[in-house]
Amino acid sequence: MTTTSAENAPGTTTAAESVAYDLVLRGPRVLVDGTTAPRQVGVRDGRVAAVVPYDEPLEGARTVELGDQQVLLPGLVDTHVHVNEPGRTEWEGFDSATRAAAAGGVTTLIDMPLNSIPPTVDVAALEEKQAVAAAKAHIDVGFWGGAVPGNESDLKPLHDAGVFGFKCFLLHSGVDEFAPLTPEAMEADMGELAEFDSLMIVHAEDATTIESAPVPAGPGYAGFLASRPRAAENAAIQAVIEAARRTGARAHILHLSSSDALDAIRAAKANGVRITVETCPHYLTLEAEAIPDGATAYKCCPPIRERANRDLLWEALLDGTIDCIVSDHSPSTVELKLAGGGDFGEAWGGVSSLQLGLSLIWDEAKRRGIALERVVDWMATNTSRLVGLERKGRIAVGADADFAVFEPETALRVDAAHLHHRNPVTPYDGRELTGVVAGAWVRGEPVDFETPRGELIRRGEA
Ligand SMILES: [Zn+2]
Repeated sequence: MTTTSAENAPGTTTAAESVAYDLVLRGPRVLVDGTTAPRQVGVRDGRVAAVVPYDEPLEGARTVELGDQQVLLPGLVDTHVHVNEPGRTEWEGFDSATRAAAAGGVTTLIDMPLNSIPPTVDVAALEEKQAVAAAKAHIDVGFWGGAVPGNESDLKPLHDAGVFGFKCFLLHSGVDEFAPLTPEAMEADMGELAEFDSLMIVHAEDATTIESAPVPAGPGYAGFLASRPRAAENAAIQAVIEAARRTGARAHILHLSSSDALDAIRAAKANGVRITVETCPHYLTLEAEAIPDGATAYKCCPPIRERANRDLLWEALLDGTIDCIVSDHSPSTVELKLAGGGDFGEAWGGVSSLQLGLSLIWDEAKRRGIALERVVDWMATNTSRLVGLERKGRIAVGADADFAVFEPETALRVDAAHLHHRNPVTPYDGRELTGVVAGAWVRGEPVDFETPRGELIRRGEA
């Protein structure tokens, strides 16, 4: 990447008079509308104002020339991140999370309503979180609300305050202050959400099925996997589909792991049920067979399943059954993540990967013969569409000038200690990948890792 400024010789017109754009980004590989080609992107007032072929004259106050190895992508939109601040800032916080996100090419994140204290279950809690984020975010940040027992009357006010939808659990969430809903209560809330066309996003594991499964204990991964059977996901997903069908509400399945549920999802989509689905890098790049005993960095719920399951998830991405890929970045302190010295019953469940998503998915996609353009559909275009961010997730005239500069052929060795994540535990430590993020831009400016310049975003405003 090289940058030049439009300098004025004495006696010539001023930059303001002669320069058409604040910024021009140009390069041999610019991804627009699903195709990568030599192009230039003109930026004015933080938005894309022109997209033209590489050779056309286009003048900017600043011009950035990308290298042959670099692809200009729309900034990624990660709609599933647990930032945990305030209340559990030692797990992660807005400063560290948004720096990690930017280093991974993510220019917008939507924060989950739990693991912070307070959880985002009423407007006062939302305002508390927004105030903290506004002072610290290096990228744009929005919020999900929570649907918990007793907060039915908070749903509409939270919607009016700009949350992108509501998360609920159908079993214990992992933290006591964010209680689960029964399937009946979930459906009642979805009936309410249908009134203002909000979105219910569901951690879909069925409590009864989990209760009758073996209790996880000890260092063996197989024991942990048996404690979170596919049947629990399949049953919960069926309940979400039926609730969406009956209420007409939009529903979204979070972090799909069980490939057994895909046929039910396919059928529901074909029948016009308003349901969307996400999965995560850990389900797409890791496999149960290869997880070492005691390696609780890999513990998450639902769990990482077998190799054959992973292949079916990739097929479902390709045929559109699964819509998006998000991190579900859910870290804790090192102490909690390694609690019990490798005991899967004791350790915190959640995988850290916010900074690594694009490299991980691209590395695996490439191995499978899948183009980078498809990866960007899943990680930027479809995630923005999920939350209605019309100005994010694509490079187009009128869109926010949010970009990631990606080097798809450059090698990367993951070193957990050098990630921006607050706590250096990730199952990807030491992994050799192909694909490096070389830069990120938010609204026409390179992300500033020192000075927070991210903005708060609200539903319907971007
Ligand atoms: Zn999550």
